[in-house]
Amino acid sequence: MTDIAQSNAVRPTQRPHCYICGATDKLEDDHIPPKGFFPPDKRDSLLTAPLCHRCHSPLKKTDEAMRVWVATASATSSKAGRWIFDNKVIGSTLKRSPKLRKIIIEKHLHEVVVQIPTGPMAKSLITMPQGRVIPFIRRLTKGFLYTYYPDYDYFQDNFNVVYRLPNTEVVNTVLRLARSLRRGPSDNEVFRIWHGITADTRNSGA
Ligand SMILES: [Zn+2]
Repeated sequence: MTDIAQSNAVRPTQRPHCYICGATDKLEDDHIPPKGFFPPDKRDSLLTAPLCHRCHSPLKKTDEAMRVWVATASATSSKAGRWIFDNKVIGSTLKRSPKLRKIIIEKHLHEVVVQIPTGPMAKSLITMPQGRVIPFIRRLTKGFLYTYYPDYDYFQDNFNVVYRLPNTEVVNTVLRLARSLRRGPSDNEVFRIWHGITADTRNSGA
């Protein structure tokens, strides 16, 4: 699955089809956002969109890496996020892979000063290669478009992920979008993260 392959794909006239490449066979349900981002009691009303097996299977590792990233960044801000951090990140992924734990601590953990709406704040920041974050955000966007805008052909579009400082206007827009995408009960929120780009390494920080 490459960006070039994605932008050359043609949207089939019939649904269901893979929301990334357009294939109509070997379709599987993909949860958007991934099911593993939610504790078991918050998985009932998750959105699904079809992905073919070929597009779906390589995403498992990215989803797990993204979960480590978002959970580590926002574990303290919600009970559900804390559950994911304790049970899935500490209790599962990092326990299973001491090598990954070492890489995260040595390469991806930074002490930084971040700009939040109320001013600068010191934080521990976990970074992720942009090559992983951007395709993930692009994929979720396509899944939402497939689901909420069935008549719109996004297969010919280019998707750029643009970073904007979280000023009041940006915060309000994001919150409004999040509310409009939410299908389940209003307390279904697990993570709320800001995606930024670190100036030194060009990695993504949360
Ligand atoms: Zn596909």
